[in-house]
Amino acid sequence: MVYFLMMCCLSVWFLGTPISSECWAGDFKVAIDIGHTINTPGAISARGVPEYLFNKNIAILLHRKLIQDPQFKGSFIINETGDDLPLSARGAIANRQGAALFISIHHDSVEPKDLSYWLCQGKSLAHCDKFAGYSIYYSEENGNPLRSLSFAVVLGSEMLRNGFCPTLHHAEKFTGADKGLVDRIRGIYKYNKLVVLRTTDMPAVLFECGIIKNRYEELELSNSAYQHRIVDALLSAIKIYSGGTR
Ligand SMILES: [Zn+2]
Repeated sequence: MVYFLMMCCLSVWFLGTPISSECWAGDFKVAIDIGHTINTPGAISARGVPEYLFNKNIAILLHRKLIQDPQFKGSFIINETGDDLPLSARGAIANRQGAALFISIHHDSVEPKDLSYWLCQGKSLAHCDKFAGYSIYYSEENGNPLRSLSFAVVLGSEMLRNGFCPTLHHAEKFTGADKGLVDRIRGIYKYNKLVVLRTTDMPAVLFECGIIKNRYEELELSNSAYQHRIVDALLSAIKIYSGGTR
């Protein structure tokens, strides 16, 4: 209860200091980073689909919706072509283009010890149905860690409000001074050494939309209506954070 009250107070404090929309003169650029590349596609889903394709889908959808609002018309996608772009270059692009917020889009996996195997379309593939849900990461080594956490709180709140649940399965592994679970209600983790977050000058988060190793969650994450719900939660969080309205 103490923890809950503390996080509520923390949220109110952060939410009580929104970024004024006046600061951005109608051009709040969001840098949307597509996690991974075609050649190094990240996790492989329970049905053998590369994480990169899931990430690209959400990134494009978010960008398409964002630029419909004049306030966010300057928003851009990082590495839309899926080239072998180093992680540090992604932050550099966002810095150079004057992004006000950086969001790296990912889909999650699990630890090898939690994997089982099943036969899917004639192939033996790894899966794990024990865990499901989204998670949000920020870094204290980012150019603006307090604002990064502030956005993470808003995004976690919007995900909850839209009916999504966080996964806490990384809490077991992420322990220590530089990484760990900081908000179990909203699914927010600190992970200081994440390169894309520590190389960005502006507030930044890495967002895991869900766990593609989970056979049931993979089906949802592949569903267009579900993808739109995730993107709408992201959009709503960006608008609240930037001082706009839902
Ligand atoms: Zn990833």
